[in-house]
Amino acid sequence: MLNIIPIPAFKDNYIWTLHERQHAVVVDPGDAAPVRAWLEKHQSRLSAILCTHHHHDHVGGVCELVQLYNVPVYGPRHENIPCLSHAVGEGDLIEIEELGIQFKVLDIPGHTRGHVAYLNENALFCGDTLFGCGCGRLFEGTAAQLHHSLQRLAQLAGDTRVYCTHEYTEANICFALACEPGNAQLIQRQADARELRAAGKPTLPSTIALEKATNPFLRCTEAEVIRTILQHGPGDSTELAVFTAMREWKNALPQDKRLP
Ligand SMILES: [Zn+2]
Repeated sequence: MLNIIPIPAFKDNYIWTLHERQHAVVVDPGDAAPVRAWLEKHQSRLSAILCTHHHHDHVGGVCELVQLYNVPVYGPRHENIPCLSHAVGEGDLIEIEELGIQFKVLDIPGHTRGHVAYLNENALFCGDTLFGCGCGRLFEGTAAQLHHSLQRLAQLAGDTRVYCTHEYTEANICFALACEPGNAQLIQRQADARELRAAGKPTLPSTIALEKATNPFLRCTEAEVIRTILQHGPGDSTELAVFTAMREWKNALPQDKRLP
């Protein structure tokens, strides 16, 4: 039985770790120390490292882990990933023999130019592209690219679990409620997220179905969302214009300015 657990790192990163029978794969190890500690504690051997994009809080621990465990490093072919051994992109399949699992690679540019996601059955590792009730900031790509990438993820099966890298859900829900105060599922999600965080638990993974029902960045054709966004700036009501204005509005909020 494959287990997927978060190793917390930095302030609010999760290094998602897939493990079974003393073998483990880590996604986006921004820091080597907590991964080493986890592997030692669980007497597990590292089999591979997957990287979604080049930001330091996702790749900062890669080379130290490679020196210690000599494992393959998979990452987007359009970015500079330290100690990369296997450059991957859209449609590639990654086999991890020790765990008997496979990942499909999806190109989802926008947050960065070459950002990729990894899909293992119904578990999606999407880095900083789709967050719990939000999405990543635009650093290198265009709003149209990020919008297209999010729409691709939204087309995955509703029960696909979303393993993103940051615990931003509660703050994102506050913004989502500003966009769509009448969304009953969103109000429920806020209560659920508060309960989880109060108990010291992650709000993740979420699911594609929950994101489609509550994440404003996937709801740019909803009447209430469009109404709110048009009140916050000029623009038209096309889906991309609403998405772009929403992303800009959120960027301008003080709590969003510091986020990676
Ligand atoms: Zn990032």
